[in-house]
Amino acid sequence: MHREVVIVGSGPAGLTAAIYAARAELHPLVIHGPQPGGQLTITTEVENYPGFAEGIQGPELMQQFEEQAKRFGTEFLVTFVNKVDLSGRPFTLWTDDGREIKAETLIVASGASAKWLGIPGEAPAPEGLGGLGVSACATCDGFFFKGKPIVVVGGGDTAMEEATFLTRYASRVTVVHRRDSLRASKIMQDKAFKNPKIDFIWDTDVREVLGSPETGVTGVRLYNNKTGEERVFDCEGVFIAIGHKPNTDVFKGWLDMDDVGYIKTAGRSMATNIPGVFACGDAQDSFYRQAVTAAGTGCMAAIDAERYLDSLPVPMATGEEVTIEGEVVTADHEQIIMPGGEVVSNHPDGANGDAKPAADASVVYARPSTELPS
Ligand code: NAP
Repeated sequence: MHREVVIVGSGPAGLTAAIYAARAELHPLVIHGPQPGGQLTITTEVENYPGFAEGIQGPELMQQFEEQAKRFGTEFLVTFVNKVDLSGRPFTLWTDDGREIKAETLIVASGASAKWLGIPGEAPAPEGLGGLGVSACATCDGFFFKGKPIVVVGGGDTAMEEATFLTRYASRVTVVHRRDSLRASKIMQDKAFKNPKIDFIWDTDVREVLGSPETGVTGVRLYNNKTGEERVFDCEGVFIAIGHKPNTDVFKGWLDMDDVGYIKTAGRSMATNIPGVFACGDAQDSFYRQAVTAAGTGCMAAIDAERYLDSLPVPMATGEEVTIEGEVVTADHEQIIMPGGEVVSNHPDGANGDAKPAADASVVYARPSTELPS
């Protein structure tokens, strides 16, 4: 398979990129795992996505995105990308189903996944009780806890949202937080504090999930990090809501990332450090992380890819601009460094700026080693 635009991920970012690229007749290929639609498919009511005055269910919203992308000819492939070579165009992606896919431009929209505590009893069954009472998705699993006591771990918006949602089913919801104040926004805190079915345990770490495959979860071992007291707290479900990690491991060694794994983009565009590779949505945004911002950056990434394929200059993180033909416009916009190293003026009248040695270009656009990262 060889495509002009390959998009990895099918959340709001990936599918918005697909809609734009498809309408530009670039016939994008979207590669996604077995759970298409990203994180919104495991959420309930979405009240803040513009255009839906009465709100819309997350899965229904993503269904609309997908149908819109398909309407303009987006192709979908269900598999995981397990290896990439971004040393030069066309970029190469290898997938779990044995394909080798070539891409003239690549849009990374692989999103983020829930983080786990890494404590005994938390792993998926049969190693732990994951799926037998431990979950990171209230929307998916809350239904199974009708009339049961539940613990939610975390102090952010996700924890408050999950705790509030779970009171629909649970007999009681106890939020266990490692500090004595919440990180969640005021409105989410207020809703949780006002809910008579939610209790809080402060300054406390969850050290172990207790139970067995036969009984499911029966409790958690708690440790008060102020007093040093340890105790068992009875519950039948544990929801871990401590944040997310970007799904970018496969791009490590190629794309510049922060310590957590969020891909660095240019700011004025969605360009990564590799010309022709763009990133959008939660894979590159550790700050806003909203469906609408993800969709916005997906649009930007697709427009950047279009421009790049048309050999129009795309702004890079360094301030320079680069075209698919390898021309580099210097950060001051004075000069163009041609692929062969010749430096020409970028002035419309041809006036010659201060020509700098062409070697500057190799400093700016030194690509990663052509050797694949191990
Ligand atoms: P978050 O804001 O990073 O909060 C994570 C919470 O988990 C924090 O309270 C943190 O404790 C705790 N935590 C992290 N690692 C832990 C560990 N190893 N052990 C125990 N506790 C741990 O993540 P989030 O709640 O998923 O929210 C992420 C972003 O999405 C935020 O910007 C949020 O506003 C947004 N969001 C918005 C909505 C909404 O508006 N409807 C809903 C969900 C999320 P500390 O506080 O001590 O660090």
